[in-house]
Amino acid sequence: MKDKEVFDIAIIGAGAAGLQLLYELTQSPTDHHLKILLIDSGDRSEKSWCFWQNNPPIYSHLIEKKWNHLAFVGADGMEIKSCVEPIHYHYISSEKFYSFFFSEYIPKNPGIEVVAGMAKNVAKGDEYFTISLESGETYRSKKVADSRFNQEDWQKSGGLYQHFYGKFIRTDTPTFDENKATLMDFSLIQKHEHFTCFHYILPFSKTHALVETTVFSTKQYEKVYYQELWEEYWKTQLGAIPYALEKEEMGSIPMSDYAFPLESDGILKIGTAAGQVKASTGYAFTRMHQDAKNIVSQVNRKKPGRFRFYDRLLLSIIKTDTKQVPEVMKRLFHSVPMPQILMFLDEKSTLFQEIQIFCRLPIRLFLTHLWKSFTRSR
Ligand SMILES: Cc1cc2nc3c(=O)[nH]c(=O)nc-3n(C[C@H](O)[C@H](O)[C@H](O)COP(=O)(O)OP(=O)(O)OC[C@H]3O[C@@H](n4cnc5c(N)ncnc54)[C@H](O)[C@@H]3O)c2cc1C
Repeated sequence: MKDKEVFDIAIIGAGAAGLQLLYELTQSPTDHHLKILLIDSGDRSEKSWCFWQNNPPIYSHLIEKKWNHLAFVGADGMEIKSCVEPIHYHYISSEKFYSFFFSEYIPKNPGIEVVAGMAKNVAKGDEYFTISLESGETYRSKKVADSRFNQEDWQKSGGLYQHFYGKFIRTDTPTFDENKATLMDFSLIQKHEHFTCFHYILPFSKTHALVETTVFSTKQYEKVYYQELWEEYWKTQLGAIPYALEKEEMGSIPMSDYAFPLESDGILKIGTAAGQVKASTGYAFTRMHQDAKNIVSQVNRKKPGRFRFYDRLLLSIIKTDTKQVPEVMKRLFHSVPMPQILMFLDEKSTLFQEIQIFCRLPIRLFLTHLWKSFTRSR
């Protein structure tokens, strides 16, 4: 135990949520003087954080690439491409994000203490929390923000996951449209009964891109399985152009409409552990940013319940009507303007706009899943 020292707030986990909360706390005119403890076990697995925003975007100095055109490709290979200006789709690599925080930002803030270690337990006392690490060390703090997420509990509940396997590649010949990010490409034939697969492409230049295989599934497959899907897509849809592999990224995120608690026994939950990953899409970065702002300004963190309900319907289709997913997405991108879709996914649309969107989707399918969801909840 570090004698006498009691931190104002301890953040467990220096990931997307923990570091964004740290940033907001240290930028706040009222909280910037706080003594902050940042505890992290050191998982720096490669992630690509993409998000859409008008100018000026958040963390503009960390953005490595932005696109003003977005595309969707249906199972029939037809592309829908749209200019979304003044919105842009932005890319930040986790590598650059971590490097900014650990090499620049944190060293300039004397109020932050970083501890490398695995938090094991948080015990609530009368005046402060005691955080025990696996190493046996303990720390004391008046508040705790905890981003630990229990994967095992999730797996046992039979939850759905979004699995990613991506390759950063370079080609000798111009291959990509560097102004266009492809959000979803369903053109690889869906041969699998139990999961939905699509690809996305983020081109950094005409010869440099991240091409990623994405699978919605309750099961985690071996890496080689995703690699085969990736190769098949590259071969059949992009002409098997020779490429040099720069690096890979791999990961999984939960897709759940479960009402993750925002607080548990006085401990603030943040990030994935607080349900900040949007259930039906996996987008989380700007949601975590907004949540960090809400925590600092003590604004209600709860989101309107109807969006959880929409997510539940989509998840029900993804889980049990897997083969319908490409058609639902095609109808959405075909009939709703891209900026409106982005607003809906940001949960900033009005009820009237949402009714308009659902009217353009396969209504019978949604009514079936509405009924399923109703009978399940009784
Ligand atoms: C490959 C991939 C691509 C993604 N792409 C996007 C995207 O384009 N856009 C988007 O918005 N979202 C994306 N996401 C989703 C989301 O942004 C990330 O999952 C995000 O990193 C989740 O933030 P987090 O803080 O909850 O968890 P993490 O970023 O995983 O951070 C958790 C931190 O907690 C630490 N930790 C864990 N347990 C302990 C412990 N017991 N003690 C101390 N420290 C601990 C870990 O070391 C880690 O640093 C992607 C996710 C993946 C996996």
